[in-house]
Amino acid sequence: MLNASLKQLSALLAQKKLSSVELTQFHLDRVARFNPELNAFLTVDAERSLAQARAADALIAAGKAQPLTGIPLAHKDIFCAKGWRTTCGSKMLANFVSPYDAHVVEQLNAAGAVILGKTNMDEFAMGSSSETGFWGPVKNPWDPARVAGGSSGGSAAAVAARMAPAAIGTDTGGSIRQPAALTGISGLKPTYGVVSRYGMIAYASSLDQGGPMAKSAEDLALMLNVMAGFDARDSTSLERPAEDYTRALEVSATDSDKPLAGLRIGVPKEYFGDGLAVDVAVAVEAALAQFEKLGAKRVAISLPNSGLSVPAYYVIAPAEASSNLSRFDGVRYGYRAPEYGDLADMYRKTRAQGFGAEVKRRILIGTYVLSHGYYDAYYLKAQKIRRLIARDFTQAYKQCDLIMGPTSPSVAFGLDSMLSDPVQMYLLDIYTTAANLAGLPAMSIPCGFGEGGLPVGLQLVGDYFAEGKMLRAAHQYQLATDWHLRQPAGTE
Ligand code: GLN
Repeated sequence: MLNASLKQLSALLAQKKLSSVELTQFHLDRVARFNPELNAFLTVDAERSLAQARAADALIAAGKAQPLTGIPLAHKDIFCAKGWRTTCGSKMLANFVSPYDAHVVEQLNAAGAVILGKTNMDEFAMGSSSETGFWGPVKNPWDPARVAGGSSGGSAAAVAARMAPAAIGTDTGGSIRQPAALTGISGLKPTYGVVSRYGMIAYASSLDQGGPMAKSAEDLALMLNVMAGFDARDSTSLERPAEDYTRALEVSATDSDKPLAGLRIGVPKEYFGDGLAVDVAVAVEAALAQFEKLGAKRVAISLPNSGLSVPAYYVIAPAEASSNLSRFDGVRYGYRAPEYGDLADMYRKTRAQGFGAEVKRRILIGTYVLSHGYYDAYYLKAQKIRRLIARDFTQAYKQCDLIMGPTSPSVAFGLDSMLSDPVQMYLLDIYTTAANLAGLPAMSIPCGFGEGGLPVGLQLVGDYFAEGKMLRAAHQYQLATDWHLRQPAGTE
Protein backbone atom coordinates (compact mmCIF):
# COMPACT_ATOMS: atom_id res chain seq x y z
CA MET A 1 0.00 0.00 0.00
CA LEU A 2 2.81 2.47 0.81
CA ASN A 3 4.09 2.47 -2.74
CA ALA A 4 0.76 2.08 -4.50
CA SER A 5 0.12 4.57 -7.28
CA LEU A 6 -2.96 6.78 -7.17
CA LYS A 7 -4.36 4.70 -10.04
CA GLN A 8 -3.90 1.51 -8.01
CA LEU A 9 -5.48 3.07 -4.92
CA SER A 10 -8.36 4.27 -7.04
CA ALA A 11 -8.86 0.75 -8.41
CA LEU A 12 -8.85 -0.74 -4.89
CA LEU A 13 -11.48 1.81 -3.87
CA ALA A 14 -13.59 1.08 -6.95
CA GLN A 15 -13.43 -2.68 -6.30
CA LYS A 16 -14.45 -2.02 -2.66
CA LYS A 17 -11.31 -3.80 -1.44
CA LEU A 18 -10.62 -0.67 0.54
CA SER A 19 -12.78 2.22 1.68
CA SER A 20 -11.76 5.85 1.69
CA VAL A 21 -12.34 5.89 5.45
CA GLU A 22 -9.80 3.04 5.86
CA LEU A 23 -7.32 4.66 3.49
CA THR A 24 -7.66 8.03 5.23
CA GLN A 25 -7.38 6.50 8.72
CA PHE A 26 -4.31 4.55 7.60
CA HIS A 27 -2.60 7.79 6.59
CA LEU A 28 -3.80 9.70 9.67
CA ASP A 29 -2.17 6.95 11.75
CA ARG A 30 1.06 7.41 9.84
CA VAL A 31 0.89 11.17 10.42
CA ALA A 32 0.46 10.51 14.15
CA ARG A 33 3.48 8.22 14.04
CA PHE A 34 5.95 10.25 11.99
CA ASN A 35 4.86 13.87 12.31
CA PRO A 36 6.12 14.52 15.84
CA GLU A 37 9.64 14.08 14.49
CA LEU A 38 9.28 15.42 10.93
CA ASN A 39 6.98 18.43 11.58
CA ALA A 40 5.51 18.16 8.08
CA PHE A 41 1.89 18.89 9.07
CA LEU A 42 0.73 22.05 10.83
CA THR A 43 -2.94 21.14 11.06
CA VAL A 44 -4.64 17.77 11.14
CA ASP A 45 -8.38 17.52 11.68
CA ALA A 46 -9.27 13.83 11.65
CA GLU A 47 -13.01 14.41 12.04
CA ARG A 48 -13.14 16.73 9.06
CA SER A 49 -11.00 14.40 6.91
CA LEU A 50 -13.03 11.32 7.84
CA ALA A 51 -16.28 13.13 7.08
CA GLN A 52 -14.95 13.83 3.58
CA ALA A 53 -13.86 10.19 3.32
CA ARG A 54 -17.35 8.99 4.25
CA ALA A 55 -18.82 11.26 1.58
CA ALA A 56 -16.33 9.83 -0.92
CA ASP A 57 -17.33 6.28 0.01
CA ALA A 58 -20.95 7.23 -0.64
CA LEU A 59 -20.02 8.57 -4.08
CA ILE A 60 -18.17 5.34 -4.86
CA ALA A 61 -21.12 3.24 -3.68
CA ALA A 62 -23.40 5.31 -5.91
CA GLY A 63 -21.16 4.65 -8.92
CA LYS A 64 -20.20 8.33 -9.14
CA ALA A 65 -16.48 7.99 -8.50
CA GLN A 66 -13.86 9.98 -10.42
CA PRO A 67 -10.15 9.06 -10.50
CA LEU A 68 -9.24 10.91 -7.26
CA THR A 69 -12.43 10.12 -5.33
CA GLY A 70 -11.57 8.93 -1.83
CA ILE A 71 -7.81 9.65 -2.08
CA PRO A 72 -6.38 11.64 0.85
CA LEU A 73 -4.05 14.49 -0.15
CA ALA A 74 -1.82 16.77 1.92
CA HIS A 75 -2.34 20.49 1.21
CA LYS A 76 0.40 23.06 1.59
CA ASP A 77 -0.85 25.58 4.13
CA ILE A 78 -0.86 28.32 1.48
CA PHE A 79 -4.13 27.07 -0.03
CA CYS A 80 -7.28 28.46 1.56
CA ALA A 81 -9.62 25.63 2.49
CA LYS A 82 -13.03 26.43 3.96
CA GLY A 83 -13.23 25.70 7.67
CA TRP A 84 -9.53 24.84 7.88
CA ARG A 85 -6.98 26.95 9.67
CA THR A 86 -4.78 28.38 6.90
CA THR A 87 -1.60 30.00 8.20
CA CYS A 88 0.90 30.22 5.31
CA GLY A 89 3.49 29.33 7.93
CA SER A 90 3.12 32.70 9.65
CA LYS A 91 2.25 33.97 13.09
CA MET A 92 0.37 36.65 11.14
CA LEU A 93 -2.27 34.05 10.18
CA ALA A 94 -1.88 31.73 13.16
CA ASN A 95 -5.59 31.90 13.98
CA PHE A 96 -7.00 32.46 10.48
CA VAL A 97 -9.73 30.00 9.52
CA SER A 98 -10.49 30.37 5.84
CA PRO A 99 -14.11 31.22 4.97
CA TYR A 100 -13.66 29.92 1.39
CA ASP A 101 -11.86 27.40 -0.82
CA ALA A 102 -9.07 28.12 -3.27
CA HIS A 103 -9.94 27.16 -6.85
CA VAL A 104 -7.58 24.18 -6.66
CA VAL A 105 -9.21 23.05 -3.41
CA GLU A 106 -12.68 23.42 -4.95
CA GLN A 107 -11.61 21.28 -7.89
CA LEU A 108 -10.07 18.57 -5.69
CA ASN A 109 -13.11 18.56 -3.40
CA ALA A 110 -15.44 18.31 -6.40
CA ALA A 111 -13.41 15.32 -7.59
CA GLY A 112 -14.03 13.65 -4.22
CA ALA A 113 -10.46 13.85 -2.91
CA VAL A 114 -9.98 14.07 0.87
CA ILE A 115 -7.98 16.81 2.63
CA LEU A 116 -5.62 14.92 4.93
CA GLY A 117 -4.19 18.04 6.56
CA LYS A 118 -2.30 21.29 5.99
CA THR A 119 1.46 21.13 5.59
CA ASN A 120 4.34 23.15 7.00
CA MET A 121 6.28 25.58 4.82
CA ASP A 122 8.57 28.57 4.82
CA GLU A 123 6.74 31.67 6.04
CA PHE A 124 4.69 33.05 3.12
CA ALA A 125 6.62 30.57 0.91
CA MET A 126 9.83 32.57 1.24
CA GLY A 127 12.72 30.19 1.52
CA SER A 128 14.44 27.10 0.19
CA SER A 129 14.56 25.03 3.35
CA SER A 130 11.20 25.12 5.17
CA GLU A 131 12.96 26.56 8.19
CA THR A 132 11.56 30.11 8.15
CA GLY A 133 8.01 29.18 9.21
CA PHE A 134 6.63 30.16 12.61
CA TRP A 135 6.24 26.51 13.69
CA GLY A 136 9.82 25.43 13.19
CA PRO A 137 11.59 23.46 10.51
CA VAL A 138 10.37 20.47 8.53
CA LYS A 139 12.86 17.62 8.81
CA ASN A 140 13.96 15.46 5.94
CA PRO A 141 12.67 11.87 6.23
CA TRP A 142 15.94 10.61 4.71
CA ASP A 143 17.94 12.26 7.52
CA PRO A 144 16.13 14.28 10.18
CA ALA A 145 19.26 16.37 10.76
CA ARG A 146 18.79 17.81 7.26
CA VAL A 147 16.25 20.15 5.69
CA ALA A 148 13.44 18.91 3.47
CA GLY A 149 13.88 21.83 1.06
CA GLY A 150 11.42 24.62 0.61
CA SER A 151 9.14 26.22 0.57
CA SER A 152 6.77 23.23 0.07
CA GLY A 153 8.92 21.10 2.39
CA GLY A 154 6.00 19.84 4.48
CA SER A 155 4.18 18.49 1.43
CA ALA A 156 7.41 16.91 0.18
CA ALA A 157 8.23 15.26 3.50
CA ALA A 158 4.63 14.03 3.83
CA VAL A 159 4.88 12.18 0.52
CA ALA A 160 8.47 10.98 1.06
CA ALA A 161 7.61 9.45 4.45
CA ARG A 162 4.42 8.01 2.93
CA MET A 163 2.24 9.98 5.37
CA ALA A 164 0.22 11.03 2.32
CA PRO A 165 -0.15 9.29 -1.06
CA ALA A 166 0.33 12.68 -2.75
CA ALA A 167 0.23 16.40 -1.99
CA ILE A 168 -0.16 19.86 -3.45
CA GLY A 169 2.35 22.69 -3.32
CA THR A 170 3.23 26.01 -4.91
CA ASP A 171 6.29 27.12 -6.84
CA THR A 172 7.36 30.77 -7.16
CA GLY A 173 11.05 30.13 -7.74
CA GLY A 174 11.41 26.39 -7.22
CA SER A 175 9.32 25.56 -4.17
CA ILE A 176 7.74 22.45 -5.66
CA ARG A 177 10.80 21.16 -7.52
CA GLN A 178 13.56 21.78 -4.97
CA PRO A 179 11.88 20.07 -1.98
CA ALA A 180 10.81 17.26 -4.33
CA ALA A 181 14.47 16.83 -5.29
CA LEU A 182 15.70 16.92 -1.69
CA THR A 183 13.20 14.32 -0.50
CA GLY A 184 13.24 11.94 -3.48
CA ILE A 185 9.75 12.58 -4.85
CA SER A 186 8.32 13.97 -8.10
CA GLY A 187 6.86 17.46 -8.45
CA LEU A 188 5.55 19.63 -11.26
CA LYS A 189 5.19 23.38 -11.72
CA PRO A 190 2.79 23.98 -14.61
CA THR A 191 2.99 26.69 -17.27
CA TYR A 192 2.04 30.01 -15.67
CA GLY A 193 -1.74 30.38 -15.90
CA VAL A 194 -2.63 26.70 -16.18
CA VAL A 195 -3.57 26.40 -12.48
CA SER A 196 -5.65 29.19 -10.94
CA ARG A 197 -4.06 31.24 -8.16
CA TYR A 198 -7.44 32.12 -6.64
CA GLY A 199 -7.30 31.35 -2.92
CA MET A 200 -3.60 30.61 -2.99
CA ILE A 201 -2.06 33.15 -0.62
CA ALA A 202 -0.02 35.46 -2.86
CA TYR A 203 3.75 35.73 -2.64
CA ALA A 204 4.87 37.03 -6.06
CA SER A 205 1.84 36.97 -8.31
CA SER A 206 3.61 36.98 -11.67
CA LEU A 207 5.63 33.91 -10.64
CA ASP A 208 3.36 31.85 -8.32
CA GLN A 209 1.92 28.58 -9.66
CA GLY A 210 0.30 25.70 -7.81
CA GLY A 211 1.10 22.14 -8.75
CA PRO A 212 1.11 18.47 -7.74
CA MET A 213 3.73 16.60 -5.66
CA ALA A 214 3.66 12.81 -5.71
CA LYS A 215 5.69 9.63 -6.01
CA SER A 216 5.56 9.38 -9.80
CA ALA A 217 4.91 11.25 -13.03
CA GLU A 218 1.86 9.07 -13.53
CA ASP A 219 0.38 10.33 -10.25
CA LEU A 220 1.26 13.93 -11.14
CA ALA A 221 -0.65 13.60 -14.42
CA LEU A 222 -3.75 12.34 -12.65
CA MET A 223 -3.63 15.25 -10.20
CA LEU A 224 -2.91 17.90 -12.81
CA ASN A 225 -6.03 16.76 -14.69
CA VAL A 226 -8.05 17.93 -11.68
CA MET A 227 -5.96 20.96 -10.65
CA ALA A 228 -5.69 22.64 -14.08
CA GLY A 229 -8.48 24.65 -15.61
CA PHE A 230 -9.81 28.12 -16.32
CA ASP A 231 -11.03 30.25 -13.45
CA ALA A 232 -12.40 33.74 -14.09
CA ARG A 233 -11.42 34.84 -10.55
CA ASP A 234 -7.72 34.75 -11.48
CA SER A 235 -7.09 37.34 -14.19
CA THR A 236 -4.05 35.42 -15.44
CA SER A 237 -5.84 32.06 -15.64
CA LEU A 238 -5.70 30.71 -19.17
CA GLU A 239 -8.79 29.72 -21.07
CA ARG A 240 -7.84 26.71 -23.17
CA PRO A 241 -9.26 23.28 -23.98
CA ALA A 242 -8.86 20.74 -21.15
CA GLU A 243 -6.02 18.26 -21.62
CA ASP A 244 -5.96 14.69 -20.37
CA TYR A 245 -2.41 14.51 -19.07
CA THR A 246 -2.68 10.78 -18.35
CA ARG A 247 -3.15 10.14 -22.07
CA ALA A 248 0.08 11.99 -22.73
CA LEU A 249 1.97 9.30 -20.78
CA GLU A 250 1.28 6.62 -23.34
CA VAL A 251 3.58 5.73 -26.21
CA SER A 252 2.54 3.48 -29.09
CA ALA A 253 3.49 -0.18 -28.65
CA THR A 254 5.63 -0.32 -31.80
CA ASP A 255 8.50 1.64 -30.26
CA SER A 256 8.58 -0.22 -26.97
CA ASP A 257 12.35 -0.52 -26.51
CA LYS A 258 13.01 3.06 -27.63
CA PRO A 259 9.89 4.76 -26.30
CA LEU A 260 11.53 8.20 -26.40
CA ALA A 261 12.95 7.94 -29.94
CA GLY A 262 12.91 11.35 -31.58
CA LEU A 263 12.97 13.30 -28.30
CA ARG A 264 15.73 15.92 -28.30
CA ILE A 265 17.02 16.74 -24.82
CA GLY A 266 18.79 20.06 -24.48
CA VAL A 267 21.56 20.06 -21.89
CA PRO A 268 22.58 23.63 -21.02
CA LYS A 269 26.31 24.00 -20.48
CA GLU A 270 25.62 26.70 -17.88
CA TYR A 271 23.93 24.13 -15.59
CA PHE A 272 27.08 22.05 -15.15
CA GLY A 273 29.59 24.69 -14.09
CA ASP A 274 31.01 25.85 -10.78
CA GLY A 275 28.76 25.41 -7.80
CA LEU A 276 27.31 22.05 -8.84
CA ALA A 277 28.20 19.34 -6.33
CA VAL A 278 29.98 16.34 -7.84
CA ASP A 279 27.55 13.76 -6.43
CA VAL A 280 24.62 15.60 -8.03
CA ALA A 281 26.48 15.94 -11.36
CA VAL A 282 27.21 12.19 -11.41
CA ALA A 283 23.57 11.19 -10.76
CA VAL A 284 22.22 13.66 -13.34
CA GLU A 285 24.77 12.43 -15.91
CA ALA A 286 23.61 8.84 -15.33
CA ALA A 287 19.99 9.89 -15.76
CA LEU A 288 20.80 11.58 -19.08
CA ALA A 289 22.49 8.35 -20.22
CA GLN A 290 19.33 6.45 -19.27
CA PHE A 291 17.23 8.83 -21.37
CA GLU A 292 19.56 8.18 -24.30
CA LYS A 293 19.05 4.44 -23.80
CA LEU A 294 15.33 5.09 -24.08
CA GLY A 295 15.92 6.62 -27.50
CA ALA A 296 16.26 10.31 -26.70
CA LYS A 297 19.01 12.37 -28.31
CA ARG A 298 21.20 14.72 -26.36
CA VAL A 299 21.81 18.22 -27.71
CA ALA A 300 24.29 20.68 -26.20
CA ILE A 301 22.60 24.04 -25.72
CA SER A 302 23.31 27.35 -24.07
CA LEU A 303 21.13 29.57 -21.90
CA PRO A 304 23.52 32.52 -21.78
CA ASN A 305 21.58 34.57 -19.22
CA SER A 306 21.20 31.75 -16.67
CA GLY A 307 23.56 33.42 -14.25
CA LEU A 308 21.25 36.44 -14.05
CA SER A 309 18.13 34.53 -13.02
CA VAL A 310 18.82 34.58 -9.26
CA PRO A 311 19.62 38.33 -9.14
CA ALA A 312 16.57 39.16 -11.31
CA TYR A 313 14.34 36.86 -9.27
CA TYR A 314 15.46 38.34 -5.95
CA VAL A 315 14.47 41.80 -7.17
CA ILE A 316 11.13 40.90 -8.79
CA ALA A 317 9.85 38.42 -6.18
CA PRO A 318 10.47 40.72 -3.17
CA ALA A 319 9.02 43.69 -5.11
CA GLU A 320 5.76 41.82 -5.67
CA ALA A 321 5.83 40.40 -2.14
CA SER A 322 6.19 43.86 -0.58
CA SER A 323 3.01 44.88 -2.33
CA ASN A 324 1.08 41.63 -1.72
CA LEU A 325 1.94 41.52 1.97
CA SER A 326 0.71 45.05 2.64
CA ARG A 327 -2.73 43.51 3.23
CA PHE A 328 -1.57 42.04 6.53
CA ASP A 329 -2.15 45.13 8.58
CA GLY A 330 -3.93 43.90 11.70
CA VAL A 331 -7.27 45.16 10.40
CA ARG A 332 -8.47 42.57 7.96
CA TYR A 333 -6.95 39.21 8.81
CA GLY A 334 -5.19 37.31 11.52
CA TYR A 335 -2.86 38.79 14.05
CA ARG A 336 -3.18 42.21 15.68
CA ALA A 337 -0.71 43.50 18.26
CA PRO A 338 -2.38 43.35 21.67
CA GLU A 339 -1.23 46.85 22.69
CA TYR A 340 -0.80 49.95 20.56
CA GLY A 341 -1.31 53.72 20.43
CA ASP A 342 -2.77 55.21 17.25
CA LEU A 343 -3.55 53.47 13.94
CA ALA A 344 -0.02 53.84 12.52
CA ASP A 345 1.37 52.39 15.73
CA MET A 346 -1.04 49.45 15.45
CA TYR A 347 0.19 48.72 11.88
CA ARG A 348 3.80 49.02 12.97
CA LYS A 349 3.52 46.77 16.02
CA THR A 350 1.33 44.21 14.28
CA ARG A 351 3.74 43.81 11.38
CA ALA A 352 6.82 43.92 13.61
CA GLN A 353 5.42 41.12 15.78
CA GLY A 354 3.55 39.11 13.12
CA PHE A 355 6.24 38.68 10.46
CA GLY A 356 9.47 36.71 10.83
CA ALA A 357 12.96 37.89 9.84
CA GLU A 358 13.03 36.53 6.29
CA VAL A 359 9.65 38.05 5.41
CA LYS A 360 10.75 41.42 6.78
CA ARG A 361 13.97 41.20 4.77
CA ARG A 362 11.98 40.60 1.58
CA ILE A 363 9.56 43.45 2.31
CA LEU A 364 12.50 45.81 2.87
CA ILE A 365 14.24 44.72 -0.35
CA GLY A 366 10.99 44.94 -2.30
CA THR A 367 10.11 48.37 -1.00
CA TYR A 368 13.63 49.58 -1.76
CA VAL A 369 13.76 48.36 -5.38
CA LEU A 370 10.36 49.89 -6.09
CA SER A 371 11.13 53.24 -4.53
CA HIS A 372 11.58 56.44 -6.51
CA GLY A 373 15.16 56.73 -7.66
CA TYR A 374 15.89 53.01 -7.47
CA TYR A 375 13.02 51.69 -9.56
CA ASP A 376 14.88 52.13 -12.88
CA ALA A 377 18.15 50.82 -11.53
CA TYR A 378 16.75 47.65 -10.01
CA TYR A 379 13.15 46.76 -10.76
CA LEU A 380 13.07 47.88 -14.39
CA LYS A 381 16.45 46.33 -15.09
CA ALA A 382 15.32 43.03 -13.56
CA GLN A 383 12.26 43.06 -15.80
CA LYS A 384 14.49 43.52 -18.84
CA ILE A 385 16.64 40.60 -17.73
CA ARG A 386 13.49 38.56 -17.27
CA ARG A 387 12.68 39.15 -20.93
CA LEU A 388 16.20 38.05 -21.95
CA ILE A 389 15.90 34.87 -19.90
CA ALA A 390 12.60 34.01 -21.58
CA ARG A 391 14.23 34.68 -24.97
CA ASP A 392 17.08 32.25 -24.16
CA PHE A 393 14.49 29.50 -23.78
CA THR A 394 12.66 30.43 -26.99
CA GLN A 395 15.98 30.15 -28.82
CA ALA A 396 16.83 26.84 -27.11
CA TYR A 397 13.51 25.22 -28.04
CA LYS A 398 14.40 25.66 -31.70
CA GLN A 399 17.03 22.98 -31.09
CA CYS A 400 15.43 20.70 -28.51
CA ASP A 401 12.09 19.51 -27.08
CA LEU A 402 12.92 19.44 -23.37
CA ILE A 403 15.74 20.82 -21.27
CA MET A 404 17.28 18.70 -18.52
CA GLY A 405 19.75 19.31 -15.74
CA PRO A 406 20.03 19.31 -11.96
CA THR A 407 17.15 20.68 -9.85
CA SER A 408 19.34 21.71 -6.92
CA PRO A 409 23.11 22.26 -6.81
CA SER A 410 23.44 19.95 -3.79
CA VAL A 411 21.61 17.26 -1.85
CA ALA A 412 19.73 18.20 1.33
CA PHE A 413 21.88 20.34 3.66
CA GLY A 414 22.00 20.43 7.45
CA LEU A 415 19.29 22.17 9.47
CA ASP A 416 20.43 25.66 10.48
CA SER A 417 23.46 25.51 8.20
CA MET A 418 22.33 28.26 5.79
CA LEU A 419 19.93 30.43 7.80
CA SER A 420 22.57 32.96 8.79
CA ASP A 421 23.66 33.48 5.18
CA PRO A 422 20.61 34.47 3.09
CA VAL A 423 22.60 35.09 -0.10
CA GLN A 424 24.01 31.56 0.05
CA MET A 425 20.46 30.28 0.47
CA TYR A 426 19.23 32.36 -2.50
CA LEU A 427 21.96 30.88 -4.69
CA LEU A 428 20.43 27.42 -4.22
CA ASP A 429 17.67 28.60 -6.56
CA ILE A 430 20.11 28.94 -9.46
CA TYR A 431 18.52 26.20 -11.62
CA THR A 432 14.86 26.67 -10.70
CA THR A 433 14.01 30.40 -10.85
CA ALA A 434 14.43 30.77 -14.64
CA ALA A 435 11.34 28.64 -15.40
CA ASN A 436 9.21 30.92 -13.19
CA LEU A 437 10.65 34.09 -14.70
CA ALA A 438 9.86 32.74 -18.18
CA GLY A 439 6.52 31.17 -17.13
CA LEU A 440 7.57 27.73 -18.38
CA PRO A 441 6.48 24.33 -17.04
CA ALA A 442 9.15 22.42 -15.13
CA MET A 443 9.40 19.36 -12.95
CA SER A 444 11.76 17.38 -10.78
CA ILE A 445 12.02 13.61 -10.57
CA PRO A 446 14.29 11.46 -8.41
CA CYS A 447 17.34 10.18 -10.32
CA GLY A 448 19.66 8.61 -7.76
CA PHE A 449 21.44 9.23 -4.49
CA GLY A 450 24.42 11.33 -3.52
CA GLU A 451 26.45 12.13 -0.45
CA GLY A 452 25.02 10.58 2.74
CA GLY A 453 22.60 8.41 0.75
CA LEU A 454 20.45 11.49 0.07
CA PRO A 455 18.20 11.81 -2.98
CA VAL A 456 19.16 13.74 -6.12
CA GLY A 457 16.59 15.36 -8.40
CA LEU A 458 16.64 15.72 -12.18
CA GLN A 459 14.96 18.83 -13.53
CA LEU A 460 12.97 18.84 -16.77
CA VAL A 461 11.94 22.18 -18.28
CA GLY A 462 9.50 22.27 -21.17
CA ASP A 463 8.27 24.86 -23.62
CA TYR A 464 4.90 26.51 -22.88
CA PHE A 465 2.17 23.85 -22.42
CA ALA A 466 4.66 20.97 -22.80
CA GLU A 467 3.42 19.41 -19.53
CA GLY A 468 2.29 16.31 -21.45
CA LYS A 469 5.64 15.91 -23.18
CA MET A 470 7.51 16.31 -19.88
CA LEU A 471 5.26 13.88 -18.07
CA ARG A 472 5.67 11.29 -20.82
CA ALA A 473 9.47 11.53 -20.73
CA ALA A 474 9.45 11.29 -16.92
CA HIS A 475 6.99 8.40 -16.93
CA GLN A 476 9.04 6.40 -19.45
CA TYR A 477 12.13 7.02 -17.31
CA GLN A 478 10.25 5.82 -14.22
CA LEU A 479 9.09 2.67 -16.04
CA ALA A 480 12.77 1.86 -16.64
CA THR A 481 14.12 2.82 -13.18
CA ASP A 482 12.99 2.56 -9.57
CA TRP A 483 14.51 5.63 -7.87
CA HIS A 484 11.01 7.02 -7.38
CA LEU A 485 9.95 3.96 -5.38
CA ARG A 486 12.79 4.10 -2.86
CA GLN A 487 11.63 5.00 0.60
CA PRO A 488 13.53 6.47 3.55
CA ALA A 489 14.71 3.87 6.07
CA GLY A 490 12.50 3.73 9.13
CA THR A 491 9.33 4.81 7.34
CA GLU A 492 8.22 1.30 6.30
N1 GLN B 1 13.45 29.85 -2.66
C1 GLN B 1 12.69 30.79 -3.40
C2 GLN B 1 12.33 31.97 -2.52
O1 GLN B 1 12.70 31.97 -1.42
C3 GLN B 1 11.48 30.16 -3.99
C4 GLN B 1 10.34 30.02 -3.07
C5 GLN B 1 9.10 29.57 -3.75
O2 GLN B 1 9.13 29.02 -4.87
N2 GLN B 1 7.97 29.82 -3.11
O3 GLN B 1 11.71 32.90 -2.93
